[in-house]
Amino acid sequence: MALDEKLVESIVRSILDGPSGSQESAGGLPEIPVGVSARHIHLNRTHMDILFGPGSELTPIKELMGGQYAAQEQVTIIGPSLRPIEKVRVLGPLRKATQIEISRTDTFVLKVKPPVRPSGQIEGSAGLTIVGPKGVVRVDQGCIIANRHIHMSPADAQLYGVKDGDMVTCMAKGERETQWFGVQIRVDPSFTLEMHIDTDDANAVGFFGKPCVTIIK
Ligand SMILES: [Zn+2]
Repeated sequence: MALDEKLVESIVRSILDGPSGSQESAGGLPEIPVGVSARHIHLNRTHMDILFGPGSELTPIKELMGGQYAAQEQVTIIGPSLRPIEKVRVLGPLRKATQIEISRTDTFVLKVKPPVRPSGQIEGSAGLTIVGPKGVVRVDQGCIIANRHIHMSPADAQLYGVKDGDMVTCMAKGERETQWFGVQIRVDPSFTLEMHIDTDDANAVGFFGKPCVTIIK
C-alpha cells in the first residue's frame, strides 16, 4: 500500500511538473522563452501609401519588444503560383525597406525561393506581389525566411556568456526533441530575452506547454 501511494505521488508530481518542468538549463542558467513568429510583413512608407492609401497609418493592436508592434492591418501575398496567402499581419512601425518573412512551408504554396537570412538583410532575396485594400505592390526583393535568433539585453548576454552576432546551438525539448544550430545572438538594450523561430521550427518540435530552449553552445 505504501508503495502505491509513493507511485501515485510520483505520477501526480510528474504531471504537475510537466515533461519540461525544469526552469534551469544544465549549466544552471535560466531557460530562454521562445516566441513563434507567424508569417508577417514590414512595410516602408511608399508601399504603405500604395497598399493602404496615401498618408495612412498603422493601427497597433499588440506590443512587441523593441518598440515594435503587430498592426491591425493585413495584406495578401502572391507568388508565381498565383495561389495567394491571405491575412498576412503587418508589423510596425514602418521601416526603410519592405520585408516579408515567411516559412519554408509557405514557399510551397507561393512557389518562391527566399533565402534564410537575418532580418534586414534582403539584398538579392525573393520577390513577391503584395495586395492591400487600396493597391498592389510588386517587390523584386524583400522576401526571406527569418533565421533562428535570440534577442537579449547586454546584461543577459553577460549572463549567458555570449555577444552580439555569436552563433550558438540550442536544445529544444518537445514531442520531437531536437537541437538547433546556427542560432544568431542579437544584443540590444531594447531587447528582452526571447528566442524567435518560425512556425516550421515550432511545429517540428511540438513543445510541451510554454516553449523554451537552453543554449548548449
Ligand atoms: Zn526577432
